[in-house]
Amino acid sequence: MNKKKLIILAIILGSILVICALILVFKKEIKLELIGKANISVNINEKYKDAKVKACYGNIFSCKKIDYSTFGNVDTTKLGTYKIRYKVTHNKKSKTVSRIVKVVDKKNPTLTINTKDFTICPNGKTKNYDYKAEDNLDGDLTEKVEVKVEYDKLVFTVQDSAKNVTKKTFSYKKEDNEAPQIALNGNKTKYVLVGESFSDEGVNVTDDCDDLSGKVKTSSSVDTSKPGTYYVNYEVTDEAGNNAKETRTVIVYNKNVDVTPSEKTIYLTFDDGPGPYTAQLLDILKKYNVKATFFVTNQYPAYESLITREAEEGHSVAIHTYTHNYSYVYSSVENYFADLNNMQEKIKKLTGKETRLVRFPGGSSNTISRRYSPGIMTTLANELEARGYKYFDWNVVSGDAGETTSTSKVIANVTSNLRSSYTNVLQHDVKAFSVNAVESIIQYGLTHGYHFAPLDVTSPGAHQKINN
Ligand SMILES: [Zn+2]
Repeated sequence: MNKKKLIILAIILGSILVICALILVFKKEIKLELIGKANISVNINEKYKDAKVKACYGNIFSCKKIDYSTFGNVDTTKLGTYKIRYKVTHNKKSKTVSRIVKVVDKKNPTLTINTKDFTICPNGKTKNYDYKAEDNLDGDLTEKVEVKVEYDKLVFTVQDSAKNVTKKTFSYKKEDNEAPQIALNGNKTKYVLVGESFSDEGVNVTDDCDDLSGKVKTSSSVDTSKPGTYYVNYEVTDEAGNNAKETRTVIVYNKNVDVTPSEKTIYLTFDDGPGPYTAQLLDILKKYNVKATFFVTNQYPAYESLITREAEEGHSVAIHTYTHNYSYVYSSVENYFADLNNMQEKIKKLTGKETRLVRFPGGSSNTISRRYSPGIMTTLANELEARGYKYFDWNVVSGDAGETTSTSKVIANVTSNLRSSYTNVLQHDVKAFSVNAVESIIQYGLTHGYHFAPLDVTSPGAHQKINN
């Protein structure tokens, strides 16, 4: 090849290059570029403003803005990965770019420590400190706070579900000035019938530093063979020498003694039975040698044999009514006594004896009877007396007739209203919650100088004012 040919070739190649360059420079095309980064993280619940894209059609000298479409959106209230797509279509050509936006939780939980001076136990155990942890997403994280001793620092750490960690460290002193706590199992005052066995329920001991189970010293003077007031003493000392004491009072008492009522007499009276709970009640009364009075009805004839048992076990059997039907018994004097005679017949059949004791449904002061027969209570009261009966009301209500259905309330109503002379308590042995109160009432009475007696014709009537 000679020199001339070489020059021509160079010119041709050079021209091709120039033409190509010119084509490239002046060629029009779609340009679509993201403004900002292709991958973005945004904190949850923070505002996200998309930087969009630059879209134009043209060459390096001039590029004319064109419209683009955006697909997808970012929900900053929900953690997740979102994709936003931008698309341009121009002159039958199209182009797409996209951006990834991650909604993340980068916010650390807050950890507020209120304790000022930190101590740990001499054995290295941490104590209870006052702190609170909250997180923007997880809410209250106080339960998740970890407290650890790391060398000479006390370290509080909490981590949220996005693994953001907050950590606080404090200096501490080793000391234990806090006494153990003794909690009695069972009641602080126990009542034991003389001769019965007493087994102590013990205590539960907690301490901020030490495991003191099995370290409680118990001393007891309880002698259940003799009535009296006794104490069980508990004492415990922790490793640092802090000491705690607790005492239980045990009252050993005698059964009820049958005496002629003078003062501090309790007449337990039960209306409306016998019924499903009467047998249980009779067992309790027998255990304490307490005699009561049953104002019986024929409302639950399946239980009528318990009237026999009541009489056999020394209780007073008395008439409440046969039907306990107000509209019948208070409709006329004749009907009242017809009903009363029915009950008297039944009692005679079941116990072999008549009774002279009566209680009106609703008591002598009831006003319901006005509805059926104005003035009838006055007539009935006089007529009962004329026929050799004695009627009884009451002077302490247990509340079991409607005021309450709580055993503890019945106990409180009775024990807080006992009279120094005599107390006639109204209860209903057809109500389980009321029957369940009787044992505690007896225990209270026997350990507070009262005695129990059944009603008889010489007992006080506890009369209320007749209102009809
Ligand atoms: Zn009644």
